[in-house]
Amino acid sequence: MIPLASVMKEKIAFYSLTLSDLESVLEGLGHKKFRARQLFQWVYLHKETNPENMLNLSKLFREEIPSLFHFELPEIILHKKSKDGTQKFLFRVGEKLSVETVLIPSGERNTLCVSSEVGCNMACNFCYTGTQKLKRRLTADEIVGQFLRVSHLLPENVKISNIVYMGMGEPLDNTDAVLKSIDILHAPLGINLSLKKITVSTSGIVSKIPLLTQSGVRLAVSLNASEDETRNKIMPINLKWNIKTLLEACRQHAIGTKDKVTLEYVLLKGINDSLEDARRVYEITKNVPSKINIIPFNEHPGAPYKKPLEKVVDAFQNELIYLGAQTLRRRTMGDDILAACGQLNSEATL
Ligand code: SF4
Repeated sequence: MIPLASVMKEKIAFYSLTLSDLESVLEGLGHKKFRARQLFQWVYLHKETNPENMLNLSKLFREEIPSLFHFELPEIILHKKSKDGTQKFLFRVGEKLSVETVLIPSGERNTLCVSSEVGCNMACNFCYTGTQKLKRRLTADEIVGQFLRVSHLLPENVKISNIVYMGMGEPLDNTDAVLKSIDILHAPLGINLSLKKITVSTSGIVSKIPLLTQSGVRLAVSLNASEDETRNKIMPINLKWNIKTLLEACRQHAIGTKDKVTLEYVLLKGINDSLEDARRVYEITKNVPSKINIIPFNEHPGAPYKKPLEKVVDAFQNELIYLGAQTLRRRTMGDDILAACGQLNSEATL
């Protein structure tokens, strides 16, 4: 429930409100609950933010709306297009900060990879974002705003079909805003994005995974190693929640949502790319309903790792397939504009 006092003092960012938040705000101001549904539909379904055009609302209410809400979206300060069709957007958030968002086309599907934080504190040492310390967690409207801004730029017949929380930041380090943004994007009266089209990726904050299970979204986890010694070195989060604990949380999520978990495995030359690694990955994941997404490392400025040779990547994947694992091979998209997985860094883009 949003305190009425704050409603009266300053305008609320409309895109930070779930439908039930909006109902609470308007009911608190003496309006009927259905007014919230009408307003929500105007904004998200009809893409109309000018109250004068919301003709099924009373004149009095229409006149009140501008004093209650603002409809500001984060500003795009840079827009780059890759030769493969991937687009990268740099958004200004607040005074001096920025985040990156990537749109990845693939056939009928257009996947938007959104950021949840400016920088990241998880310090995964293969990731470019991890070199940029956490400056700020994004608010729900800044996350929803990335989706809306990019949607508005697309031709009428092109829609964002999927959203992945895999941009800058650890989504489960900003759970409140991330879950709120999911609620807004999923709301059937508005954007109505299916929960099965929403994936949240985590480096392994095990204590927060049940929140994703409750919400019903898809889970992706950055595994990236077949044993703790290596994972401790490349992903410090493993010192808190080791591989066994993490994979048990994944298993519970898969059971709870009846959906396979995606286990991301970034292949780093000479670090985690041997056939022994592939065999261990199979052993530790065979009881987790999952698919293993193999991602050859995308190099970035100052990266301490190299991409393995193609034949090493093939051998790793073939070994997993031979043993019976379900695998995917991530096609590298947008690496010419540093928009590929693990290459986002808003300070470097500016
Ligand atoms: S991989 Fe994700 S969690 Fe790890 S440093 Fe990069 S953005 Fe943060």
